Amino acid sequence: MNSKTQSPFKVNLHELPRRAGEMRTYDLNFPTPEAIGVPLLQIPLGAAIELRFKAESVDDGVLITGEVKSQAIGECGRCLEKIEMEIDQRFQELFLYASRAAEDPEADDDLFILDGDVADLEVPVRDAVILSMPINPVCEADCEGLCSGCGEKWRDLPEDHGHEIVDPRWTGLAGWKPE
Ligand SMILES: [Zn+2]
Ligand SMILES: [Zn+2]
Repeated sequence: MNSKTQSPFKVNLHELPRRAGEMRTYDLNFPTPEAIGVPLLQIPLGAAIELRFKAESVDDGVLITGEVKSQAIGECGRCLEKIEMEIDQRFQELFLYASRAAEDPEADDDLFILDGDVADLEVPVRDAVILSMPINPVCEADCEGLCSGCGEKWRDLPEDHGHEIVDPRWTGLAGWKPE
Protein backbone atom coordinates (compact mmCIF):
# COMPACT_ATOMS: atom_id res chain seq x y z
CA MET A 1 0.00 0.00 0.00
CA ASN A 2 1.55 3.32 -0.99
CA SER A 3 0.87 6.71 0.51
CA LYS A 4 -1.62 7.60 -2.23
CA THR A 5 -4.04 4.88 -1.23
CA GLN A 6 -3.71 4.85 2.55
CA SER A 7 -6.93 6.74 3.19
CA PRO A 8 -10.01 4.72 2.16
CA PHE A 9 -11.41 7.99 0.78
CA LYS A 10 -8.63 8.07 -1.81
CA VAL A 11 -10.01 6.27 -4.83
CA ASN A 12 -7.84 5.06 -7.65
CA LEU A 13 -9.64 5.75 -10.94
CA HIS A 14 -7.14 4.04 -13.26
CA GLU A 15 -9.94 1.93 -14.79
CA LEU A 16 -11.67 5.04 -16.10
CA PRO A 17 -10.56 5.89 -19.65
CA ARG A 18 -9.57 9.54 -19.95
CA ARG A 19 -11.99 10.28 -22.78
CA ALA A 20 -14.87 12.65 -22.23
CA GLY A 21 -18.09 10.67 -21.82
CA GLU A 22 -16.50 7.54 -20.35
CA MET A 23 -17.98 6.46 -17.04
CA ARG A 24 -17.41 3.92 -14.29
CA THR A 25 -19.37 3.21 -11.15
CA TYR A 26 -17.92 2.45 -7.76
CA ASP A 27 -19.33 1.02 -4.56
CA LEU A 28 -17.01 1.22 -1.58
CA ASN A 29 -17.58 0.16 2.00
CA PHE A 30 -15.13 0.85 4.78
CA PRO A 31 -14.96 1.86 8.42
CA THR A 32 -14.34 5.58 8.69
CA PRO A 33 -10.80 6.34 9.86
CA GLU A 34 -12.04 9.53 11.57
CA ALA A 35 -15.26 10.69 13.13
CA ILE A 36 -17.29 12.92 10.80
CA GLY A 37 -19.80 15.42 12.04
CA VAL A 38 -20.54 18.21 14.44
CA PRO A 39 -20.03 18.20 18.22
CA LEU A 40 -23.51 16.90 19.04
CA LEU A 41 -23.88 14.48 16.14
CA GLN A 42 -21.32 12.41 14.27
CA ILE A 43 -20.48 9.26 12.40
CA PRO A 44 -18.19 7.76 15.01
CA LEU A 45 -14.69 6.54 14.33
CA GLY A 46 -14.83 3.06 12.80
CA ALA A 47 -18.49 3.21 11.76
CA ALA A 48 -19.34 1.73 8.37
CA ILE A 49 -19.49 4.16 5.48
CA GLU A 50 -20.81 3.29 2.06
CA LEU A 51 -19.83 5.40 -0.94
CA ARG A 52 -21.62 4.75 -4.23
CA PHE A 53 -20.72 7.03 -7.06
CA LYS A 54 -20.09 7.31 -10.75
CA ALA A 55 -16.93 8.84 -12.11
CA GLU A 56 -17.29 10.49 -15.49
CA SER A 57 -14.47 11.71 -17.68
CA VAL A 58 -15.04 15.29 -18.77
CA ASP A 59 -12.77 17.65 -20.67
CA ASP A 60 -10.90 19.02 -17.68
CA GLY A 61 -10.95 16.08 -15.32
CA VAL A 62 -13.30 13.64 -13.65
CA LEU A 63 -16.75 14.50 -12.36
CA ILE A 64 -17.77 12.40 -9.38
CA THR A 65 -21.44 12.16 -8.47
CA GLY A 66 -22.77 9.86 -5.82
CA GLU A 67 -24.07 9.31 -2.35
CA VAL A 68 -22.69 8.57 1.07
CA LYS A 69 -24.59 6.35 3.51
CA SER A 70 -23.87 5.81 7.15
CA GLN A 71 -25.32 6.18 10.61
CA ALA A 72 -24.61 9.10 12.90
CA ILE A 73 -25.12 9.08 16.64
CA GLY A 74 -25.34 11.98 19.01
CA GLU A 75 -27.25 13.75 21.70
CA CYS A 76 -30.44 15.76 21.67
CA GLY A 77 -29.41 19.39 22.17
CA ARG A 78 -32.37 19.95 24.51
CA CYS A 79 -32.69 16.83 26.67
CA LEU A 80 -29.36 15.03 26.01
CA GLU A 81 -31.17 11.83 25.00
CA LYS A 82 -29.12 9.63 22.66
CA ILE A 83 -30.17 10.06 19.06
CA GLU A 84 -29.39 8.25 15.83
CA MET A 85 -29.63 9.63 12.34
CA GLU A 86 -29.45 7.87 9.01
CA ILE A 87 -27.01 9.57 6.69
CA ASP A 88 -27.94 9.32 3.03
CA GLN A 89 -26.54 12.31 1.27
CA ARG A 90 -25.63 13.12 -2.32
CA PHE A 91 -22.36 14.73 -3.25
CA GLN A 92 -20.76 15.92 -6.45
CA GLU A 93 -17.29 17.19 -7.14
CA LEU A 94 -15.16 17.89 -10.15
CA PHE A 95 -11.56 16.70 -9.85
CA LEU A 96 -9.37 18.50 -12.35
CA TYR A 97 -6.43 16.90 -14.10
CA ALA A 98 -3.33 18.35 -12.48
CA SER A 99 -2.19 19.67 -15.90
CA ARG A 100 -5.48 21.55 -16.38
CA ALA A 101 -5.45 22.99 -12.89
CA ALA A 102 -1.98 24.43 -13.52
CA GLU A 103 -3.20 26.14 -16.71
CA ASP A 104 -6.19 27.69 -15.07
CA PRO A 105 -5.49 31.28 -14.02
CA GLU A 106 -8.54 31.14 -11.74
CA ALA A 107 -7.11 28.17 -9.91
CA ASP A 108 -7.25 28.45 -6.15
CA ASP A 109 -7.09 26.24 -3.11
CA ASP A 110 -10.77 25.30 -3.31
CA LEU A 111 -10.23 23.24 -6.43
CA PHE A 112 -9.99 19.48 -6.22
CA ILE A 113 -7.18 18.07 -8.27
CA LEU A 114 -6.48 14.47 -9.23
CA ASP A 115 -3.26 13.10 -7.83
CA GLY A 116 -2.34 10.93 -10.79
CA ASP A 117 -5.29 8.52 -10.95
CA VAL A 118 -6.33 9.16 -7.39
CA ALA A 119 -9.26 11.31 -6.25
CA ASP A 120 -9.41 12.05 -2.54
CA LEU A 121 -13.12 12.10 -1.67
CA GLU A 122 -12.67 12.84 2.00
CA VAL A 123 -13.40 16.57 1.90
CA PRO A 124 -16.41 16.40 -0.48
CA VAL A 125 -17.89 13.52 1.54
CA ARG A 126 -17.19 15.21 4.88
CA ASP A 127 -18.74 18.47 3.66
CA ALA A 128 -21.85 16.66 2.34
CA VAL A 129 -22.31 14.77 5.61
CA ILE A 130 -21.90 17.86 7.77
CA LEU A 131 -24.27 19.85 5.55
CA SER A 132 -26.92 17.16 5.98
CA MET A 133 -26.76 17.44 9.76
CA PRO A 134 -28.98 19.76 11.74
CA ILE A 135 -27.10 22.51 13.60
CA ASN A 136 -29.13 21.75 16.71
CA PRO A 137 -30.01 18.06 16.65
CA VAL A 138 -33.07 17.10 18.69
CA CYS A 139 -34.61 13.74 19.57
CA GLU A 140 -38.04 14.92 18.41
CA ALA A 141 -39.03 18.18 16.77
CA ASP A 142 -41.18 19.06 19.80
CA CYS A 143 -38.73 17.92 22.48
CA GLU A 144 -39.31 20.20 25.42
CA GLY A 145 -35.92 19.59 26.97
CA LEU A 146 -35.20 19.55 30.65
CA CYS A 147 -36.86 21.25 33.58
CA SER A 148 -34.48 23.99 34.66
CA GLY A 149 -35.49 23.42 38.27
CA CYS A 150 -34.58 19.73 38.63
CA GLY A 151 -32.95 18.69 35.35
CA GLU A 152 -35.56 15.97 34.63
CA LYS A 153 -36.98 15.56 31.15
CA TRP A 154 -40.29 17.37 30.76
CA ARG A 155 -41.48 14.28 28.85
CA ASP A 156 -41.10 12.17 32.02
CA LEU A 157 -42.64 14.70 34.39
CA PRO A 158 -46.32 15.01 35.29
CA GLU A 159 -48.22 17.79 33.60
CA ASP A 160 -48.55 19.83 36.77
CA HIS A 161 -44.83 19.59 37.55
CA GLY A 162 -43.26 22.82 38.71
CA HIS A 163 -41.02 24.36 41.28
CA GLU A 164 -42.03 27.10 43.61
CA ILE A 165 -40.30 30.20 42.47
CA VAL A 166 -38.97 31.88 45.55
CA ASP A 167 -39.11 35.61 45.11
CA PRO A 168 -35.75 36.88 46.34
CA ARG A 169 -37.54 39.64 48.29
CA TRP A 170 -39.09 36.95 50.49
CA THR A 171 -35.98 34.85 51.14
CA GLY A 172 -35.63 36.48 54.54
CA LEU A 173 -38.88 34.80 55.49
CA ALA A 174 -37.88 31.39 54.18
CA GLY A 175 -37.42 29.97 57.66
CA TRP A 176 -40.63 31.48 58.94
CA LYS A 177 -43.43 29.06 59.71
CA PRO A 178 -46.89 29.86 60.84
CA GLU A 179 -47.65 29.00 64.50
ZN1 LIG B 1 -34.80 15.68 23.39
ZN1 LIG C 1 -38.44 20.16 37.80
